Order: sequence, then structure tokens, then C-alpha cells
Amino acid sequence: MYPLDDRKNWFSGQGLWSEVAASDWQDYRWQLRNRLTRVEHLREYMDLTPEEEAGCDFANNKLALAITPYFFNLIDREDPHCPIRRQVIPRGEEMHVAPEELLDPVGEEGSMGVDGLVHRYPDRCLFLVTNVCAAYCRYCTRSRLVSNAQGYDFHPNYENALKYIETHPQIRDVLLSGGDPLLLSDKKLDYILGRLRAIPHVEFIRIGSRIPVFLPQRITPQLQEIFRKHGPVWISIHVNHPRECTEELYGACERLSFAGVPLGNQSVLLKGVNDDAAIMRSLVHRLLQMRVRPYYLYQCDLITGSAHLRTDVRKGIEIIRDLRGHTTGYAVPQFVIDAPGGGGKVPINPEYVKEITEDEVIMRNFEGEEYRYPLKGSRPAEVEREPALPVLA
Ligand SMILES: *Cc1c(COP(=O)(O)O)cnc(C)c1O
Ligand code: SF4
Repeated sequence: MYPLDDRKNWFSGQGLWSEVAASDWQDYRWQLRNRLTRVEHLREYMDLTPEEEAGCDFANNKLALAITPYFFNLIDREDPHCPIRRQVIPRGEEMHVAPEELLDPVGEEGSMGVDGLVHRYPDRCLFLVTNVCAAYCRYCTRSRLVSNAQGYDFHPNYENALKYIETHPQIRDVLLSGGDPLLLSDKKLDYILGRLRAIPHVEFIRIGSRIPVFLPQRITPQLQEIFRKHGPVWISIHVNHPRECTEELYGACERLSFAGVPLGNQSVLLKGVNDDAAIMRSLVHRLLQMRVRPYYLYQCDLITGSAHLRTDVRKGIEIIRDLRGHTTGYAVPQFVIDAPGGGGKVPINPEYVKEITEDEVIMRNFEGEEYRYPLKGSRPAEVEREPALPVLA
């Protein structure tokens, strides 16, 4: 369905906003000011289905509606099933709450060291620095606090969080997230990265951000300078569908890379978006072309009102089986379930080990053929020695 990953097929340009001055279009502040945040904005450009109309009415009580003009251009407005549309345009189905669904699906509230700092794994922590994003993903795990539609009233206290990190020498890895950290001003980001860099036991700093995807214009020379100054800082972007790989995203990834930022990608497996091996293969191939290493593929968390976007877990396993061995190893993400209730990420893999007997492992390769390997490297007693060479006089 998406066989062509050659960059000449990637979307580029101003689309619906071709009348806007290029200098405005390329200015991230213009993009933010002109976000589509109300149902009337959407209706101006497209026909909404009744399902979407209902979703937009409900969004203000759940997770706000916001889409940047840049990202809105990627929607196929003629196709009610468009995979971009499903990610950002609310649907009435968000109102249906299944019994297994939760407001805090991965149990973050129970692992808060201080407000806004989740300390689940001993050596690393998740530092939530804001509750706003450039656009809102309808399946967001942190819908409870992101966009503040549910009145969570998130007020990160950076000093408390930094103090917590400073006084916990076991924390060697800090992950900035939110909300989207790259929406902070350059000044705040510079300050937070500077403070973290000054903590001797913090070896590894990374950011989770969908800004390159929603608002690639935000990756400015000033931001590049901040990453050069405090680097290495790693960034995980969040791309779900090959259509999101545009020339603009390519450029943003290139600017980040040239500023010394290693890039990974986290995708969420979503029904009707990317629950298809051919689409996922196309996505990971495009990511590699943009210098982005696929990192995780997440099973969609049990967030309230997400049943219409969740897939059978076996779908994810099947997709990984279709990738591993069939394409570049670098292109294959790790499929994980973030265990409900706070268990952390659990890797879910296709089974390649058929059996482990007393002395060997019986395995299947990517084509399903059986191979064997001894459990221990060698068994000296059983090895037949080659006859010694005659000593030449
Ligand atoms: C995902 C996550 C991390 C980082 O996990 P990695 O597997 O190292 O990428 C850290 N803390 C929390 C709470 C997380 O959810
Ligand atoms: S960008 Fe991330 S934090 Fe923001 S709405 Fe999407 S998933 Fe949630």
C-alpha cells in the first residue's frame, strides 16, 4: 500500500495555507498561533463525520483539540479513515469507557518521587516538565494531565524535581517528558539542561518529544545551539505512520542530528493507523532514511476511551515477526507493553526458541527453519582431537 519510500514521494509544502508568507509558515510561533483548536476551525476545511462532531463536543472535558496547520495538511480530508485524522481528530468513541480502562493506565501517580517526577526504575527517572503539546494525540497515556482538560492542574516545580535528582545519586538517566518539553522556551530548556548537566551522577539526558512531527519549525538554530552546549542529549520522537515522514520532518531530524542529538522513535500501535506490517515496514524504512533508529513500539495503554484505537497484542508480535530478519536490524523496534498498574515496560517478542534441551537450544530462524546450537561453547571430553602434525626435522 505504501511501497515507495523514496524521498521524492514525501509530502512537502504549505498545502492549504499556500497563501501564507513562507516566513510566517516557517515560524513556529505562527504555527502555534494558527492551530486548529475548535470544531469550527475544522469545519472550515473539511466535512466531519457525526462521530467526529460528537468527539469534538466532548474533547474539552477530556483532552483538548489542537492541530498545527503543518500537521493538518497531512490529513486526507476525503478519507474518513485517514490514519493521520484518527490520531488527532476526536471521536465520540472516546466517551465509551471500558471496565479495564484507567485514567492513569501505567500507574505513574503511585511512583511520584515529588510532583511531576516519576521514579519507577532505580537508575532513571521521568521528569514531567510541562502539560502542553503542539497538538494532542487522542490516545495520550497522560490524558489525565496533558492539556488540562480534566482539571488536573499540573504545576511542575522544577526546583523540587531537580533537588530530588540531586539528592538521589542512583539516578544516572533523566528523561524529560510531559506534555512536550520542546514547547518550553529556549531559556527554560537551557536552564533545565544546564542544571541536569551539572549533577555529577546524571550521565544520560534524553527528551521525549513529538515536536519534530507536529511542529518541525521549532527546531531552530537557537535550539540547535542549546543541544550543542549541553549535549549529548538524546531525543525520542514519536512517528506512527509513514505519511508523517515529510521533507519538513526530514529537515528537523537533520538539524537535530547536526546538533549532535542521537534520535530514536517511539510508535504506538494503533488500530486503523499502523496495525499493518506493510505500513510499519514503510515507516521504519523512512525513519532510517531520516537518521532515526526505531526504539519502541508500544501496545496502546488502557487509557479511558481508547478501545477504538487499541489492537490485539498478537498483532504487534506479528508485525515484529514480519520485520526481524526480513529487513535491516536497525529498523526493528522493541515491542513493549507498559504494564498496567506500574510494572514498567515489558518486552513482548515473537518466539524464536523452540526448545532448550539438556545440551542444546533448538531455534527457528526468520524463515521458520529449525537450527540447533550447543548450550555450552564446547564439550572438551567429547571433542575429537585432530592428530598432531608430525614434527618436521
Ligand atoms: C519509559 C520510562 C522510562 C525509560 O525507560 P527506558 O526503557 O530506559 O527507555 C523511565 N521511567 C519511566 C517512568 C518510564 O515510563
Ligand atoms: S505528544 Fe505525547 S504527551 Fe502530547 S498528546 Fe501526544 S502522546 Fe500525549
